[in-house]
Amino acid sequence: MALGRKTMNSKTTRFLISILFLWLWIILHALFISAEKQPSPREMNMMTWKQFQECVPGQIETVLLPVGSLEPHGVIPNGTDNLAPQVMSQQIAQAVNALIAPTLNYGVTPRMKAYAGAVSVNPESYQPFVEDILIGLAEQGFKNIIVLNGHGGNTKFLHQAVLKVSSRCKVRILVVNWWSLASDETQEVFGESGGHAGNNETAYIQAVFPEHIHPEQYHDDMATVNARGDSWYAVPVPSSIGLYEKGQGCPTFDKKQAQEYFQKVNHKVASFIKEMINKWDMADLYR
Ligand SMILES: [Zn+2]
Repeated sequence: MALGRKTMNSKTTRFLISILFLWLWIILHALFISAEKQPSPREMNMMTWKQFQECVPGQIETVLLPVGSLEPHGVIPNGTDNLAPQVMSQQIAQAVNALIAPTLNYGVTPRMKAYAGAVSVNPESYQPFVEDILIGLAEQGFKNIIVLNGHGGNTKFLHQAVLKVSSRCKVRILVVNWWSLASDETQEVFGESGGHAGNNETAYIQAVFPEHIHPEQYHDDMATVNARGDSWYAVPVPSSIGLYEKGQGCPTFDKKQAQEYFQKVNHKVASFIKEMINKWDMADLYR
């Protein structure tokens, strides 16, 4: 009888302990999920108009506008040119005290639109659309608009748009072509120059979305060296991996390099933006 009670007691204790652990697990899991789903308070998409009104331009004068393109990138996602500047914005927004505007996910990519899943916008539609977005951001009170560009085909039209809107709205605008700005970091990490869907872009995306990188589908023949000057011009471009220089820039798929590159690029871009804003301030431009 006494033994029976003892067994019952230890059974009850074990039962209560497991219930306790179960509750603990549920609570921790719920906390983890909510932390994971917590939107960045700096994303304009996630703010109410009241929240926005309270911080722009009083507390925040800068906005990051990620722009990209939907086009093939070797064995990494078609949205790489959107994902990279979008993630970069989230990584650096606090350091540069900026809000993040919604990403412009389509760009000008006529030479790649023949590939599966690609969409190209005509420059005649793209540039005025970008101008309107920039004007809208300026009218909302931002003093500094930082266009974080992920796609080379947009650059020319972004520059033209920025020239017009800056003088019209008396607003400071900076276009950052990150893969080009971070060319020193590419050399530091890989000991080589980069490429479209090459070591640089692949590493940046691998650091954040490793499950969407497909090294098993990769072989070196998938890459073509970009034309030197006007030596040739092909439409569509013959491959979706384009190397800046011969014998350099192929993806490495190395996890450590990816993390190192990711940190270095974010640091470089954030420091550069801060430096530019500082210089605009020193020159007292469009205050
Ligand atoms: Zn790209």
